Amino acid sequence: MLKVELLAYTPEPEKLIASAARLCYSSCSIERTREKLTDEKVSSFVDMLAGMGHESPLEHISFTFGIEGVSRALLAQLTRHRIASYSVQSQRYVKENQFDYIVPPEVEESEEAKNEFISAMNKAQESYNKITSILQSSYKDEYISHGMDEVQAGRLAEKRAIEDARFVLPNACETKIICTFNARSLLNFFSQRCCNRAQWEIRELSKEMLRIVSQIAPDVFKNAGPSCVRDVCREGKMSCRKAAQVKKEFAELKGSLQ
Ligand SMILES: Cc1cc2nc3c(=O)[nH]c(=O)nc-3n(C[C@H](O)[C@H](O)[C@H](O)COP(=O)(O)OP(=O)(O)OC[C@H]3O[C@@H](n4cnc5c(N)ncnc54)[C@H](O)[C@@H]3O)c2cc1C
Repeated sequence: MLKVELLAYTPEPEKLIASAARLCYSSCSIERTREKLTDEKVSSFVDMLAGMGHESPLEHISFTFGIEGVSRALLAQLTRHRIASYSVQSQRYVKENQFDYIVPPEVEESEEAKNEFISAMNKAQESYNKITSILQSSYKDEYISHGMDEVQAGRLAEKRAIEDARFVLPNACETKIICTFNARSLLNFFSQRCCNRAQWEIRELSKEMLRIVSQIAPDVFKNAGPSCVRDVCREGKMSCRKAAQVKKEFAELKGSLQ
């Protein structure tokens, strides 16, 4: 099951953005500029920035998320977002004794598809174990023949074997990620991945990330989400044509509708 936790974020995020933005237009010292910022001014500055497309001050604040219960398929999509930092659980160094996997909801709903899916997962695990064992045994003999003791040879051989055995693991394999985005990059991410055109898994993740950051910096993320939430749909012929419904969903997600 998807689990998203906000591990860290820039303190007083909206005040920092407003300070940075105000500095651009002020002759005062940074200290004085910050002193003059009341809560209302912070809010109106953040609002103004969004309206005028002056987005670079948004880069001063960042959010670090711990993400679990997602597939390697999602990982491939998430890491296409280059303006972010990632740490991912390694299949190269962590042995998959019994790998967990994500079952897509529509596969889950069909008994026949689900049986086939689970059988493919079991087969992948079996092949992974077999390949690990074959390679490990051959590497172990090699290390022992070079004079290494049995325990160390076994450990190194397993480590080397799983590096290649992992090639048979599926996209469905569960993974764990820590990632850090600045607010500007997050807005771009939400715009693309909260949209109904994005795949269900990354859409679910991005909506949860948006729900979390909206509580921390509501003015920054007030208009965040797919383009139809703030403007018009940009998906052309691929549009889901559900703008009104999407708008309502995102207003509720951000807590601005009861
Ligand atoms: C519905 C959907 C379908 C997709 N389908 C495919 C697909 O079939 N195949 C595929 O390969 N990808 C696909 N993608 C991925 C997509 O093309 C982007 O790579 C991904 O969403 C990351 O977006 P980004 O580049 O805006 O983000 P980031 O990498 O975080 O970049 C943020 C912004 O920085 C700027 N930027 C970053 N790097 C550069 C650069 N080198 N040059 C100029 N400007 C830069 C751009 O303005 C960019 O929008 C899909 C994405 C979505 C949402």
